Amino acid sequence: MDLTNIIENTCAEVVEIYRHLHMHPELSEQEKETADYICQTLDVHNIPYQRNIAGHGITALVKGSGSGCIGIRADIDALAIDETTEAPYASVNPGVMHACGHDMHTAILLGTGIVLSEIADQLPGSVKLIFQPAEETTGGAHQMIEAGVLQQPDVSAMIGLHVDPAFETGSVIMRKGAMNAAVNDFTMQIKGQQCHGAQPERGIDPIVVAADMIMTLQTVATRFTAATNPVVVSIGSIHGGSGCNIIPGEVTMQGTLRAVSKETLTAIQKRVEQIAAGTAATYGASVQFSWMETPFPPLINDDKVIDIVEQAAKDVQFVVHPMPETSMGADDFAFFTEAVPGAYFNLGCAPKGTKLSPLHNGNFIGDEKALSAGMEIELQTVLALLDRYSNV
Ligand SMILES: [Zn+2]
Ligand SMILES: [Zn+2]
Repeated sequence: MDLTNIIENTCAEVVEIYRHLHMHPELSEQEKETADYICQTLDVHNIPYQRNIAGHGITALVKGSGSGCIGIRADIDALAIDETTEAPYASVNPGVMHACGHDMHTAILLGTGIVLSEIADQLPGSVKLIFQPAEETTGGAHQMIEAGVLQQPDVSAMIGLHVDPAFETGSVIMRKGAMNAAVNDFTMQIKGQQCHGAQPERGIDPIVVAADMIMTLQTVATRFTAATNPVVVSIGSIHGGSGCNIIPGEVTMQGTLRAVSKETLTAIQKRVEQIAAGTAATYGASVQFSWMETPFPPLINDDKVIDIVEQAAKDVQFVVHPMPETSMGADDFAFFTEAVPGAYFNLGCAPKGTKLSPLHNGNFIGDEKALSAGMEIELQTVLALLDRYSNV
């Protein structure tokens, strides 16, 4: 099926959608106007949808004739960052910006949906468009799956993409197997005993306990797990005390654990708790942890689905870059690949010959040409997946 003309005819509308979304970013779990706008666009094209799923999530369905159903996910939330670009469509919401490209993901998925709706009578199965909130914070993917978005109709395979400013438009970056790490974040509270800074023997100093703990926790990566099994233990915040001569009663620290399997993640979580409890006990202090309600699993690409993405990319003359190693970064698309065979890949979004600011930076702005590139690859992949998963 040659979709070049339909994609070209849809391009101007998709750029307009992207600019609107970029101009009106909303933080995770507050994506109300973004959801309204997505629904209005779906209405214009008579694509049926359900909304208010797991917060401001939406699923839309382009119904073909066969029994199979392929899912495509776009995340819709923005970040608490001040935009510093001079784009005419820069954010009008102070302190909030689409600095992770989720505006591009959403515009691409709407464009893909619009094209699919125009050829629905030729589709051998259905396509579910999943607009997911709260990727940057609570892991909206998990909540949407719990709410049943992979059922009725049952989704046989899933794909999703993330823009990547380190690569040029017209390229995709992908990896077989584990693409992103599993994550568990924590907050720990070390309780000591407050006293005068001149007489530390009269209290229990939680700052000394914290300092010892931070150093010992680094042995989790160097002495507890094999060097061939990558893990990360990072403390990202430490708070305690109010003056130079007061030993505080408590210290609070936050940190993150990363591993490439759920088993290792659970093992290092236990080890971190043991080290913390043991260190605290050495000084007569105590420690309490709170962990993520649902840790992210690793993002593992299904071999068959990622092969289909790769072939689709080649079919539309994209440059395919293999991702050399698993990223210790995380994406909650991992919940989808845990639930059904799925593949996640990155889409180059730098204009040819230019170097873009990285994601999560106030100066990031993706190449608008990447929007039609994203549609091309999503459409080509989904048609191949429908062939593979429909009527079998
Ligand atoms: Zn992000
Ligand atoms: Zn992102």
